[in-house]
Amino acid sequence: MSEPTGEDCLFCRIVAGALPAQVVGESRHCLAFRDIDPAAPTHVLVVPRRHVPDLASLAAASPDELADAVALAARVADDAGLPGYRTVANTGAAAQQSVFHAHLHVLGGRTLSWPPG
Ligand code: C5P
Repeated sequence: MSEPTGEDCLFCRIVAGALPAQVVGESRHCLAFRDIDPAAPTHVLVVPRRHVPDLASLAAASPDELADAVALAARVADDAGLPGYRTVANTGAAAQQSVFHAHLHVLGGRTLSWPPG
């Protein structure tokens, strides 16, 4: 299956500034913006500037960029004053991945149950 890239990719367009987003942070390799359909009081997406379809592909392409994404997620949670937070990376349609540009969900601000659904 061919995945969207560049102009066809929603998150590439947000990273390029071609689509609006509520940006809450950025780093050398990543952008952090609020999810349009929040599942928690804090729900931010950390997205690498590089287009790769999922988080494992980002790790394979550049461990530094994966580490940068994790560090930005921690900074977002810290800036929001969260006592704890969850990072989620859905991989594949069967796991409810809907945007095939790697991203970390950063969720917090309420009690998070376990296991997730
Ligand atoms: O893990 P998944 O691929 O499903 O996550 C994609 C996320 O991108 C969803 O939580 C969705 O609400 C969010 N989204 C967004 N802005 C858009 C389109 C989708 O924040 N324009």
